[in-house]
Amino acid sequence: DKFRLDDEVVLVTGAASGIGKAISEACADAGARLALADKDVEGVEAVADDLDAETLAIPADVSDHDEVVAMVEETTAEFGGLDVAFANAGIGRLGATVDDYDIDQWHQVMDVNLDGVFYTIREAAAVMDEGGRIVTTASVLSQIASDFPGVAAYVASKGGVAQLTKQAAADLGPKGIRVNAIAPGWVHTGIGGGAFRKDSGMDHLHERMEAETIMGRLGEPEDIKGVALFLASEASAYCTGSVLTVDGGWTTT
Ligand code: NAD
Repeated sequence: DKFRLDDEVVLVTGAASGIGKAISEACADAGARLALADKDVEGVEAVADDLDAETLAIPADVSDHDEVVAMVEETTAEFGGLDVAFANAGIGRLGATVDDYDIDQWHQVMDVNLDGVFYTIREAAAVMDEGGRIVTTASVLSQIASDFPGVAAYVASKGGVAQLTKQAAADLGPKGIRVNAIAPGWVHTGIGGGAFRKDSGMDHLHERMEAETIMGRLGEPEDIKGVALFLASEASAYCTGSVLTVDGGWTTT
């Protein structure tokens, strides 16, 4: 079964919630051993405890290079290597339009969403053997802009993630490491303070996004599992530099 990850070591950043938690569950079900990193310490420990797999919870802020170095060191010290890394941690901040976008907020978003992904790719690739796989979480907003309020930094960071994923695929191809991205559409998670959750009170946005989505509903973290396993496993052996859209058809029409 080319989708299995038996005994492979998988690192997931942003594992405490939403898409990262779902990715962790999928990899545990596929037989992996898991290093689960998040800056939400209690949250990531709870996920690690709940999974039916060998797990290690690692408190780490991916926007801090030293913490990312330590995160990868802890992973290899515990499990003896690293086969797959999901650079998934990210934040969403709804700010002002670009002419009034807060400077500190710009840097907060870029530090986590772009610098954090760069650090994770860099340090993970440095310890991986031939056959290693890296999967980033981009967004449909890596490819298109939005009239959604105040997403300038987010859109810019995710465009950077998609391009960095492609460049990393090119740079790491000769080492036998594949690098691909997942580009989710709107998924019900904790992001943006839960702005995309059904109960967030932003009903008008939900109705609009559902109406614009071919499949007629927003995504659930569960919807990302199959693509995550595909990109993490031998099933995607001939994919590198791919940005795989998982959006119920939102960007199709
Ligand atoms: P979420 O808020 O539910 O989960 C994100 C997790 O990342 C949280 O556990 C949080 O504590 C952690 N995190 C945040 N900053 C961190 C940091 N500096 N260091 C370590 N961990 C940190 O959100 P989610 O929707 O599951 O987001 C996961 C990824 O998916 C993000 O990169 C996000 O941009 C991307 N994404 C989400 C959507 C969506 O609609 N939810 C769409 C496209 C892309």
